Amino acid sequence: MAERIVVEGGSVVAVDDAGTEHAEGHVVIEGDRIVSVGPGSAPPQDVPVRRIDATGCLVTPGLINTHHHLYQWATRGYAADSTLFEWLTELYPVWARMDAESVHAAASAGLAQLARSGCTTAADHHYVFPREGGDVFGAVVAAAERTGLRLHAVRGSMDRGRSRGGLPPDSVVEDRDAALAATQRAIDDFHDPAPNSRVRVAVGPCSPFSVSAELMREAAELARRNGVRLHTHLAETTDEAEQCRAEFGRTPVEYAEDVGWLGPDVWLAHAVHLSPAEIRALAATGTGAAHCPSSNGRLGAGIAPVRGLLEAGAPVGLGVDGVASNESGGLGEEMRQALLLARATGGPRAMSVREALWLATRGGARCLGREDEIGSLEPGKLADVAVWRLGGLDHTGIADPVAALVLGRLPQVETLLCGGIEVIEQDNVVEELDRASARLRLVEVS
Ligand SMILES: [Zn+2]
Repeated sequence: MAERIVVEGGSVVAVDDAGTEHAEGHVVIEGDRIVSVGPGSAPPQDVPVRRIDATGCLVTPGLINTHHHLYQWATRGYAADSTLFEWLTELYPVWARMDAESVHAAASAGLAQLARSGCTTAADHHYVFPREGGDVFGAVVAAAERTGLRLHAVRGSMDRGRSRGGLPPDSVVEDRDAALAATQRAIDDFHDPAPNSRVRVAVGPCSPFSVSAELMREAAELARRNGVRLHTHLAETTDEAEQCRAEFGRTPVEYAEDVGWLGPDVWLAHAVHLSPAEIRALAATGTGAAHCPSSNGRLGAGIAPVRGLLEAGAPVGLGVDGVASNESGGLGEEMRQALLLARATGGPRAMSVREALWLATRGGARCLGREDEIGSLEPGKLADVAVWRLGGLDHTGIADPVAALVLGRLPQVETLLCGGIEVIEQDNVVEELDRASARLRLVEVS
């Protein structure tokens, strides 16, 4: 008979539509699914049970990261006081030296840090493919398999180097047809549409200032032919908006609409600079936004209109973004950052602590098209569960466990389950990251 896992003894916050919370509750898991959630201890089970004691803990859905660049773990701390375009200009030549080994080390470390911050599903947007770098995309997928997290691997691309008016040097961009062929290969090799899938592939030309309009259009067609999702950076900075206006006479959102990039299968990283009409356009088309508050702060990009997007009905999730622009790299911390930015600009009711948790779970699931599978603790959903230790100097006495999670210091994750399987920290991750970071630094200065 199949063993069941019983998580009991702690507070349970289900993040379901009814807002179910139990001051003391239980979650029962069989295989990769949740079978029941309820108050108090779990009723006696008629099968063997593995018990996870959550006494003194808060139990939530595993968090969902909607935007990341895992390869950047090996290039943190560059251009620390720069704008996005200055930062990119310094980093592109470093990234051009990466290979599958350094990307695997960086991605393994990045995913380990995400797991420590309660994350069970991560979207990774990889758009740098050095010519001599080997299979860097496969290296990210292998890192997710090693770490045990669910991955949405976005096959990015750039075809607009400096010689074509883009921002990246020509050495890091691909030929358009080659990029599209490699994107199709990535889907064929790795995309798993099954409901309990651990790897899904999305299509992700990088940004208006590094990708041609032709590649944007053709990539969207390719994604829709294959039934996979679409992801790109949009409306991140005023520099980008100015370039879009100068080049196309359009705002970034108008440009996205022109090239087929609004729709329920699209989620956009950042979406900071939006007019009220553009907020309505995202909501009306079901286009999602990956809100990356720390990265937007680090690069001084601005503050996304999250309240407006939520009120309009647009899907909004949270993203860490690449850690070259968010060196701390945890997803849990983004709940606090999102709440503080929202309230600092929109007043004390601009975001509640439960909305911050909702963004990091249900909102993220919606952006990734997986609302039916992940993002809440409900019978039938995948058993992606975070058990947070509340106690010690950090949390003892905080009246509301969700306030402790969002407003307090991020609690330690006691147990993290992804599809009912415990995520265990891997050996050697730090040593591999140290070697990869040093190698990229040395190559850059030589
Ligand atoms: Zn990004």
